[in-house]
Amino acid sequence: MAYKDLDKKREYHKKWYHENKDRLRELQIQNRARTNELSRQRRQEQGDEERAYEAEWRAKNSLHVRIIRALGEKCVRCGFDNILALQIDHVNGGGTQHRKSFANNTAYLKYVLEHADSGEYQILCSNCNWIKRHMNNEMFWIAQREEKRKNGEWH
Ligand SMILES: [Zn+2]
Repeated sequence: MAYKDLDKKREYHKKWYHENKDRLRELQIQNRARTNELSRQRRQEQGDEERAYEAEWRAKNSLHVRIIRALGEKCVRCGFDNILALQIDHVNGGGTQHRKSFANNTAYLKYVLEHADSGEYQILCSNCNWIKRHMNNEMFWIAQREEKRKNGEWH
């Protein structure tokens, strides 16, 4: 019975998607246009000082910048594109652990750059990354670790 229900549900979603395909595409186009307009506005509002800082930061973090570029240079979720708040996200989680397995951050970034098209990595802005962390419950583990550290049970 349950299997049949699932099948029915799947069929319903398929039908719904098919019937609303054009509307969804329209919404997507509208959303993209809004995001583009917002980032255009933001760039206009960005003062000389901020622009200079960004240029300097890009030069100092060239490896990071190359990865961000290889991954599309904007948040895959909301389209935000100020590189200063863009982060490399591990699609399937476990980023911290993975980074720790390298001798240093440069070695890690080189690996990510070489594997940029593997589908394991994506760009998220700080906001979307934070939301993803909440939803993945990663915050729970961080809090628990902090608690243990406080009690001297974690070194
Ligand atoms: Zn975002």
